[in-house]
Amino acid sequence: MCIFCRIVKGEIPAEKVYEDDQILGFKDVNPVAPLHLLFIPKKHVVNVFDASEEPGLMESLFSAIRKYRDQEELEVEGVRVVTNAGESAGQSVFHFHVHVLSGRRLHWPPG
Ligand code: AMP
Repeated sequence: MCIFCRIVKGEIPAEKVYEDDQILGFKDVNPVAPLHLLFIPKKHVVNVFDASEEPGLMESLFSAIRKYRDQEELEVEGVRVVTNAGESAGQSVFHFHVHVLSGRRLHWPPG
């Protein structure tokens, strides 16, 4: 079972910041910004392309991020929402996840 499925099941601890029936949000264990969260579907899908084939899943995921943003008033500082698909793009966990980064000036383009 993949590491994020184990977090969903509660077998591995995570600092949860958001949860509903489909989506889990938690702190990245190796943060690269003062705020670095991961939002994932509870259902195992590999990447953004597979996720987009699941009816309603992307809507639920982005809605969860919006709810978190509204609650924390993140737009004040600027937020980056990004996903890596495939090893050469930097994906290291093959359970779809969206990074939510904030709290410092974020440079563009990423490396
Ligand atoms: P990516 O490289 O885009 O696949 O992102 C995977 C992210 O998952 C990395 O930023 C890791 O730091 C993070 N990560 C890996 N294992 C855990 C874990 N057990 N709890 C929280 N974050 C994790």
